[in-house]
Amino acid sequence: MGETPKKRLNIQELISGIVNGDIVSLSKAITIIESDNINDKSDSNKIISSCIKEKSNSIRIGITGVPGVGKSTFIETLGDHLTSIGHKVAVLAIDPTSSVNHGSILGDKTRMSTLVNNKNAFIRPSPTSSHYGGVAKRTRESIILCEAAGYDIILVETVGVGQNEISVSEMVDFFLLLKLSGAGDELQGIKRGIIEMADAIIINKADGDNIENSNKAKSEFAMAIKLYPIKKSKWTPKVMTCSSINSSGIKPIWELILEYISVTNENNFFNQNRKNQNKYWLLQTINDKLQSNFFGNEKIKKELEKQYNLLDKNKTTPFAAAEILLKI
Ligand code: GDP
Repeated sequence: MGETPKKRLNIQELISGIVNGDIVSLSKAITIIESDNINDKSDSNKIISSCIKEKSNSIRIGITGVPGVGKSTFIETLGDHLTSIGHKVAVLAIDPTSSVNHGSILGDKTRMSTLVNNKNAFIRPSPTSSHYGGVAKRTRESIILCEAAGYDIILVETVGVGQNEISVSEMVDFFLLLKLSGAGDELQGIKRGIIEMADAIIINKADGDNIENSNKAKSEFAMAIKLYPIKKSKWTPKVMTCSSINSSGIKPIWELILEYISVTNENNFFNQNRKNQNKYWLLQTINDKLQSNFFGNEKIKKELEKQYNLLDKNKTTPFAAAEILLKI
């Protein structure tokens, strides 16, 4: 009996803490959101509903690239620049590998050691995946909490694996692809679809002996980009070089992002895109829920095994088996 009011008070306190920019409350609330515990679900919903009402003029930026390209170094340098000009920066990550092997791709190494100690930066590692909806959905919800806590720049880092970039591009305003210059084979090995998603391609590690190669890579990408159809945002993606180690090129990248925000505010894409993203996450959440309900159902689990067996023996077809399962 006594527990409910106490619990309610705590959640209310937690929400006030978030809104007052208290990092401990924010971290605790994100942990509740990431929890698989069914009892946390209603608290989680309460927190999100309250936080979503808070006004925010945030800019959400997605950053992707293969391991080793320099994502964390880039984020550290960009984050330092942004906090030095008065912004509050939250860094969230989506790492699909974190649940598969303990040493995830984004890594447990001490990353972003300067930014970690910056009082205007908040860094949260990737949630681990679970049966109930993906890693990305939790990150998407964490964005809302960080914004309510006053972080006006949200950096979402992801590793270039699987479907992650799609999820990230559906939760950010600006999508940035980090690349390295190679020996003239820049366009090879690039995942299809990524270029279409990118609002900027940044050739990182443009320093020392690598400057010339980086400029060459920049020209190649700039030419390649021209072949792609005009984006819905009407924004023409840009290619730039930078060095995350010596900070050269970082300021121009931020100015580019501001230019994008101004262009897409003017043509109303910015707002429209966020509305579309909300619809995407609504449908995504329904899909996740339907799937987990379906595959979590004991009767269906049993029937599925039976149908697999029949399928192996050529006694049914995938389509007939699906019909039977969907009727349960
Ligand atoms: P991530 O795996 O994409 O997060 O990459 P990291 O940020 O961990 O960087 C991988 C390695 O590249 C590290 O040894 C960095 O010091 C190095 N690195 C990152 N950015 C630069 C850069 O701009 N120039 C140079 N020369 N090295 C860099």
